[in-house]
Amino acid sequence: MSTTIYEARGAVAVITMNSPPVNGLGFDLRHGIVEGLARAEADANVRAVVLIGSARAFSGGADIREFGSPRASAEPTLNTVIRVLENAGKPVVAAIGGACMGGGLELALGCHYRVAIKGAQIALPEVKLGLMPGAGGTQRLPRLIGAEAALNMIVSGNSVPSEQLADSALFDEMFERDLLSGAIAFAERVVSEKRPLKRVRDLKVSLANADAFFQFARNTVRAAAKNFPAPLKCVDAVAAAVAMPYEEGARLERESFLQLMQTPQSRALRHAFFGERAAAKIPDVPEDTPLRKIEKMAVIGAGTMGGGITMNFLSAGIPVALLEMNQEALDRGLATIRRNYEASARKGRLSAQQVEERMALLEPTLSYDDLKDADMVIEAVFEDIAVKEAVFKRLDEVMRPGAILASNTSTLDLNRIAEFTQRPQDVVGTHFFSPANVMKLLEVVRGGKTAKDVLATVMSLAKRIRKTAVVSGVCDGFIGNRMVEQYIRQALFLLEEGAAPSQVDRALESWGMAMGPFRMSDLAGNDIGWAIRKRRYRERPNFKYSKIADRLCERGRFGQKTGLGWYRYEAGRRDAIPDPAVEQMIADYRKEIGAQRRAIGEDEIVHRLIFALVNEGSAILQEGISSRASDIDMVYLTGYGFPLQRGGPMLYADEVGLYSVVDSMKRFAANPHGDPAFWKPAPLLAKLASEGKKFN
Ligand code: NAD
Repeated sequence: MSTTIYEARGAVAVITMNSPPVNGLGFDLRHGIVEGLARAEADANVRAVVLIGSARAFSGGADIREFGSPRASAEPTLNTVIRVLENAGKPVVAAIGGACMGGGLELALGCHYRVAIKGAQIALPEVKLGLMPGAGGTQRLPRLIGAEAALNMIVSGNSVPSEQLADSALFDEMFERDLLSGAIAFAERVVSEKRPLKRVRDLKVSLANADAFFQFARNTVRAAAKNFPAPLKCVDAVAAAVAMPYEEGARLERESFLQLMQTPQSRALRHAFFGERAAAKIPDVPEDTPLRKIEKMAVIGAGTMGGGITMNFLSAGIPVALLEMNQEALDRGLATIRRNYEASARKGRLSAQQVEERMALLEPTLSYDDLKDADMVIEAVFEDIAVKEAVFKRLDEVMRPGAILASNTSTLDLNRIAEFTQRPQDVVGTHFFSPANVMKLLEVVRGGKTAKDVLATVMSLAKRIRKTAVVSGVCDGFIGNRMVEQYIRQALFLLEEGAAPSQVDRALESWGMAMGPFRMSDLAGNDIGWAIRKRRYRERPNFKYSKIADRLCERGRFGQKTGLGWYRYEAGRRDAIPDPAVEQMIADYRKEIGAQRRAIGEDEIVHRLIFALVNEGSAILQEGISSRASDIDMVYLTGYGFPLQRGGPMLYADEVGLYSVVDSMKRFAANPHGDPAFWKPAPLLAKLASEGKKFN
């Protein structure tokens, strides 16, 4: 299939970009455009050229499938294509419909004229990958829409509908429909009126008080994007468009683009971008697996999780039957859902009508009979295997054949739950994170017998409710909580050795975690970890655990919900206030176990906790619980407040170098209070480190 189609329409040559889905500017397409233009230039009957894409996209920008390959930088590069267009001897008109983004917009800016259809999406989104436009976008866009509007688009990366730019010089004409015929008619007029070959680079941008404007912009951007260098570089580039001749500004843009390409922040953002797409694919489940229909949902349990889970579906327009044990619990659950929606309405995020539309999709019930026509049910009852057993046996009786039966369990064995039914192939785990209506992450737990079409259906449903779904095999804690257990174990050892909870939290938070481990435990409830540890003491008697957190729980300090935890909390406030009583408790405990207090640096705190994640992540990969390192990173980025600029624990380890990670682990093991068993590198990590390889 040819990536461009050339056609003469009278005196106008039409070059149609034809590289689905979005006319990504891969090597073949770039080549095709240059060839088409040469053909038009060579044909004496052709007087003008129209460059057009598909209804879906003029062009979505660089071809992401080519990223990192030699084809991405092979000639003709995008810069070359743009130069050829701009220097053409016949007028070139870009006809823009659908997405016109990144390199796609830069391509259009290289044309002499631009016409568009209303509703086309215009953007320079490179900043979202830690980059900036690198083919003249920062220099040409301000020349057409003004420095201020261009700066907003380039720094935010957000797309703007074409009609919003209708009054700017970006577009010479705008149509409601029939883009191609409108573009051809426009091109014919350019010829008949003998209009000049307008080159955007020759225009001037004027801006009153430019210095003050850009200084203000730098201050704002520096504060808002402190972990990312790209937005500030974007400001510098737009400032150059105002202050410098085109060639100089373009050189500065190119240099900054290449520098940004080498930053860890951009690598992290690109990793997250591709990681999100990769996570949706399951290695042994074909992409064309037929999906089961999901038009109606059921949820069991209207507590903390069940209510939030239900909201996800209502918000996506999917009806939900919500079942509880008794009327009182049902009423309470319903009231919470309504209250949450009304709070969003007060903040202007929903209209009153939308609140009612969503509530109308909800069918509260106490009877399993009302679940019969649901296509999928998610159980979110108490975390007790006997309760789960009763619920799944009942679901097995009432749900129609082929319905998907899901459990939101965090710690119970999904395979055991599946065996409570006669249809384990239809059983899957859907592990939401609290608050379930807000948190992006969904761990999809694949049981030993879960059918492939069940998995494919749940992954697609996750997209409908805007979650980032990551598949996990069955193990205790799945991906996220299994890793976090090791992270918390290290945090507790640090207290024994001399750190204070606030010191540990501060170190992790200044490194970029949304919340340190102790604030996080206080929020989740310290009793949850306590229950798990009690189980661990039986299951793994040789495992070394600090008992310091048990002491806290024995005092009833369960965290925010009791007003006291690792910190104290004042009524109605969430600020974590360090508490001398906890300091004293820790000091007493140190004395009891004979630990010598020492000063511990921030770097040691951070790396002990993060490398604890990395080591467990390696084991998870090796056991096949997770099929790719980037999936683990997506779990941490979307469910645990891991800093985006670091790309997730596994990417961070790759950036540090696995050899150095293992080296640090040896040092931690040698600490007199250290636990050599804890710091034994997982075999996969040891192997990759010795071979000089990476996870990703
Ligand atoms: P919760 O106690 O807030 O809610 C449980 C609800 O289930 C209650 O409203 C209860 O009345 C109802 N229920 C109990 N037995 C029932 C039955 N037989 N039939 C119908 N309804 C019944 O608990 P939660 O925090 O929402 O947890 C629910 C599930 O989600 C558990 O499996 C838990 O492990 C899991 N989970 C919890 C979190 C979290 O942060 N709370 C996160 C992920 C997963």
